[in-house]
Amino acid sequence: MSRKLVLIVIDGLTPQVFEDAVERGTAPALGFLAEHGEYRRGVSTFPSLTPVCLASIATGAHPSQHGIPGLVWYDRDHGRIVEYGSSFAAIRAVGSRRAIRDAVITMNRDHLSRETPTMFETLEGAGLTTAVVNFTVYRGPVVHRSTLGSIVPAVEGPSRFFYYSLFESDRTGAPLAIRDRSLGSIDAYAASVGRWLVTRDGFDFLVYYLPDYDFASHAHGPGGAEEALARSDAAVGALLDAAGGGDAFLERYEVILCSDHGQTGVREGVQLERAFGDLALLSSRGPHYDAELFVAASNRVAQVYRLPGARTGVEDVAGRLEGDTAVDAVLFRAGDEAVVRRHGEELRFRPDGDGAWETSGDEALLSDPNGFERVWQALANPRAGDVLASAAEGYEFADIGGSLHVGGGSHGSLVAGDSEVPMLSVGAGPPPPRIVDIAPSVARRLGVEVAAAVRVA
Ligand SMILES: [Zn+2]
Repeated sequence: MSRKLVLIVIDGLTPQVFEDAVERGTAPALGFLAEHGEYRRGVSTFPSLTPVCLASIATGAHPSQHGIPGLVWYDRDHGRIVEYGSSFAAIRAVGSRRAIRDAVITMNRDHLSRETPTMFETLEGAGLTTAVVNFTVYRGPVVHRSTLGSIVPAVEGPSRFFYYSLFESDRTGAPLAIRDRSLGSIDAYAASVGRWLVTRDGFDFLVYYLPDYDFASHAHGPGGAEEALARSDAAVGALLDAAGGGDAFLERYEVILCSDHGQTGVREGVQLERAFGDLALLSSRGPHYDAELFVAASNRVAQVYRLPGARTGVEDVAGRLEGDTAVDAVLFRAGDEAVVRRHGEELRFRPDGDGAWETSGDEALLSDPNGFERVWQALANPRAGDVLASAAEGYEFADIGGSLHVGGGSHGSLVAGDSEVPMLSVGAGPPPPRIVDIAPSVARRLGVEVAAAVRVA
């Protein structure tokens, strides 16, 4: 009998913070795993925002295929703003019932493409038992009713499904998942459920998602969230302890540990709407019948959507964004080419049909990690904005609720700091180079055949 597999995702953990913690011995559980594993830096997808990245981890696909474009976007089919939770203020601005419904229910049921099966669908289809703790892209074959009853719609998830106390496939005795230091934390909830699952050996594949670190790193900046890292480490340690210690744990399980994206420091925040001050913009405050554009900004990325009847063209939108000091790169499609404008220069590219790129302009303009693939795949998403803006170093774009993390950390852009992730494999083969390689690696390790995941164009 081959071993089972545990995927641990620590949201927002940068490679540097992971490497330092291992080096200094400040995170004993992570250190133990690193000591027994093989490590490399991996690359996320773009935009490097959690719902996009978790969808890429769950499906092995980029946004062009899985369909999740960002934390906030404009749904052209239904003529409405979708906001998954850029911040508490953003959730309030669009209406908390709707934002929570979109993030918890609609994203998985309606927005995540049915053409990109999740690991939970693939593995359960092969007769394996999968388990999810708090991972927000959870779609699977088993219907679960909410612990809150019929006010929350039933969802389709993996066999064992634990989602912030809202869905619990089994009674574990875990405390409520509340983001409050005095009452507990989300990672403490995860630890309690994880302990229960490992004690029973109740899965073939477990995704163990720890969001507390990202939350703290937004507040204190990358590298300033040691206390949160200690809690994430304790949550990982709880799994090892439940098996009777690290060695016993590794006899039973292979491990992949990673994050979904990095973070970089924020010195200044801007309202990117300032580039369109003379135009009518769609806002969260209700219908605006003559609105031309919607600026979907969140963290360090923005997507500008031209609304039906917009007179302002793509070139005009791109030109205005290029002129803003807070913008590093402007990205859009022109015919069958992707266009990158950066530092007053332009690069155009498209797939050459042989797995490489046909380019015109200076290729060094897109030297970000896996830049060509990630930009192409973001722009090829039918739900992407007409023009994307990746933030300049140290800048953040205010979200729909006006929220910023000035003095703290943020992510979403193309640059290495936002895009690189720690990638550790303990007994699970070579560490995957990209987050989209995780799903096929997991399937292979568990003996399940999957079709080639990433399509280039
Ligand atoms: Zn974040």
